[in-house]
Amino acid sequence: MTISIGRRRFNRALGASGLAVAAGTLGAPLPLRAEAARVVIVGGGPGGATMARFLKQDAPELGVTLVEANPVHTTCFYSNLYLGGLVDFEDITHGYDQLAELGVEVVQGRAVGVDAESRILELEDGTTLDYDKLVLAPGIAMRWDAIDGYDEAAAEIMPHAFQAGPQTRLLKEQFMGMREGGTFLMVAPPNPYRCPPGPYERVSLVAHQFTQHNPTAKILILDAKPSFSKQALFEEAWRTHYPGMIEWVPGDFGGKVVAVDTDAMTVTNEDGEVFEADVINCIPPQQAGLVAAAAGATDESGWCPVEPDSMASTILPDVVVLGDASLAGDMPKSGFSANSQAKVAAMVLRHELTGSRLFPVRYRNTCWSSTAPEDTVKIGANYEPRDGRITSFDGFVSEVGESDELRREQRLEADAWYASIIAETFGTS
Ligand SMILES: Cc1cc2nc3c(=O)[nH]c(=O)nc-3n(C[C@H](O)[C@H](O)[C@H](O)COP(=O)(O)OP(=O)(O)OC[C@H]3O[C@@H](n4cnc5c(N)ncnc54)[C@H](O)[C@@H]3O)c2cc1C
Repeated sequence: MTISIGRRRFNRALGASGLAVAAGTLGAPLPLRAEAARVVIVGGGPGGATMARFLKQDAPELGVTLVEANPVHTTCFYSNLYLGGLVDFEDITHGYDQLAELGVEVVQGRAVGVDAESRILELEDGTTLDYDKLVLAPGIAMRWDAIDGYDEAAAEIMPHAFQAGPQTRLLKEQFMGMREGGTFLMVAPPNPYRCPPGPYERVSLVAHQFTQHNPTAKILILDAKPSFSKQALFEEAWRTHYPGMIEWVPGDFGGKVVAVDTDAMTVTNEDGEVFEADVINCIPPQQAGLVAAAAGATDESGWCPVEPDSMASTILPDVVVLGDASLAGDMPKSGFSANSQAKVAAMVLRHELTGSRLFPVRYRNTCWSSTAPEDTVKIGANYEPRDGRITSFDGFVSEVGESDELRREQRLEADAWYASIIAETFGTS
């Protein structure tokens, strides 16, 4: 990993005085300067790392710095397949060496604040980085105040596993070691949250493990919502592959959990009913990664509003927000979306900073979900800016009753997508 940062960018006293550049607007490139512009990116997931790669690859003259809190990134996408025993932990964990080789300055550290007027990013260790353009792609943060008793300490007992890494391993350890015939309880979050089908794919692949190792186990989902993504497809799969194992309770019928007790291993719904379980996967309500709020890029929803044709913050100048942290109209919070948004935003930033050509803006998303090792379904759409909003069109979704062959092919399609997004994001396979 390369950590070589010029003195100029650390020196708050010098500030951005030597870098003064007017805020660029779409279609009006900034004047070219003798000194190359510097883009600082926070977050090395599919949003931020894709942005770093595409910017540096297509405009090597730009200074590109990626600030990432962790030395490696474990993808949430395919973490359910790890839970289901279909891939290894190493398969979903990726480093930043290839980005560093490309010339991206990779800084391991946590960003904690932004001085948007002076264009300075502050890190936890006191380091400051000057920027011409700042990209925020910090993903999500859990709302620890939303469920009584569910805080960071409680997550070590009732893991959310919605930020992949140690939490994912912990959840797997817990349910693989669960007593025979025990209960796995999932608390499913209200909208909007990361990966709409994610909780239901997870339940499917945990059930797959139970059919192999603990066939009398039960799964109970207490859901804050009245319905969920690809519901008919998941319910079809649960009837086919795991009959009688999974029960789903919607929000209107007692599914809304308001409190947890980690000593008693119970959760309580809004009617005061108490549910006890052996393993509790509590996925709380979410908000944009904390640095977004610290920067002042969030609105009252806790997420970051953006311009639909550039992903530029509608609140802060010279700031772009990508991926889960953004309010991206019809686009779901997914790795595919984050990667697609990064490619569009990189094109717009290149245009603004180097005068390169601008192409029509078009986003895309597809989410595959494996309900069993050889049964994969999908949902997706194209998106473009329309009437001031990222709007979906040409949507598609798998159908109930599709052939086994098609479902098997869709798993291969998903595997190919995983390989390609990893190559685009981290430059590795
Ligand atoms: C169980 C599950 C299954 C999923 N399956 C799919 C799927 O099949 N397909 C799909 O497309 N999506 C899927 N997703 C969703 C997908 O993982 C997210 O939408 C995607 O990771 C969002 O990318 P991001 O770059 O916005 O954020 P992240 O991937 O969360 O990356 C953010 C990065 O920023 C870093 N960071 C955060 N704050 C700071 C800071 N202050 N300073 C420095 N670094 C910071 C973090 O360490 C992290 O590396 C799934 C999610 C889950 C939970």
